[in-house]
Amino acid sequence: MDIRTVGVVGAGQMGNGIAHVFALAGYDVVMTDVSRDALDRAIATITRNMDRQVSRGTVSATDRDAAMGRIGTTLALAELGQSDLVIEAATEKEAIKQKIFDDLLPHLKPETILTSNTSSISITRLAARTDRPEKFMGFHFMNPVPVMQLVELIRGIATDKPTFDACLAVVERLGKTASSSEDFPAFIVNRILMPMINEAIYTLYEGVGSVQSIDTSLKLGANHPMGPLELADFIGLDTCLAIMNVLHDGLADTKYRPCPLLTKYVEAGWLGRKTQRGFYDYRGDVPVPTR
Ligand code: NAD
Repeated sequence: MDIRTVGVVGAGQMGNGIAHVFALAGYDVVMTDVSRDALDRAIATITRNMDRQVSRGTVSATDRDAAMGRIGTTLALAELGQSDLVIEAATEKEAIKQKIFDDLLPHLKPETILTSNTSSISITRLAARTDRPEKFMGFHFMNPVPVMQLVELIRGIATDKPTFDACLAVVERLGKTASSSEDFPAFIVNRILMPMINEAIYTLYEGVGSVQSIDTSLKLGANHPMGPLELADFIGLDTCLAIMNVLHDGLADTKYRPCPLLTKYVEAGWLGRKTQRGFYDYRGDVPVPTR
């Protein structure tokens, strides 16, 4: 299966990173969003991030210019019709993703592979509502996309081998490493990572340690590059809570119950770095623990 043109739906933090890595790997990219502002911001972010790669010497100026020339933007979803592969990276709401697929399907070639970058929604369920469940799968990048090496490839129950193999070849051409996951709640990375973060929050909630002592313990005692609470703030506490709820609902096991303190932070609107407050307060020069 020859993949040359890639459609990216959603130009947020993941969509712009996805367009960035595909264009650098030589694919033609068409990126769409419902918001012209989001598309403009995405192009500005990609330009800034590629400029940084040029200044570090990891990308040449010629390759950057060629890559930028391969990225097109459009507000019209129908313009993704000629894509060989589509990666949906819009807002994490099932109804939004569903509507995107409904609107896109009539414009797609029969052989086009359709994928979603969802962190939590069932691939099998999304696939079942399309005309091509065998050509549908999860293509789960990590954030930030240009930096993180891993891509989780998630097979829905109907995904066929040629589709999986074609996506695996794409990951290799991107210079990234794939891991293969079956379609169960939160896949592999978040299935393991989120309960650890949730447990760190329980450790704080029960007074076993302070924010600082928990993060220092895991950094120096388990060689983690970031402490679990610092990492939770980076991911977004609303996202952490949403993933814990998916695990709790989907696996029906009390070991996945979200910590009440995590819920409280989300209720307060203290969502981590993106709102400048979470387990740390980022409004000053250095992050200060909030507990
Ligand atoms: P984001 O909020 O930064 O971007 C979402 C974009 O989708 C916005 O620009 C929005 O305008 C656009 N959008 C909304 N409705 C649309 C529609 N109908 N058509 C086209 N565009 C539409 O979100 P994000 O963090 O980039 O997340 C996107 C997806 O990636 C989600 O499924 C999320 O679960 C997944 N994901 C996120 C992370 C992460 O760390 N943020 C990591 C892996 C996967």
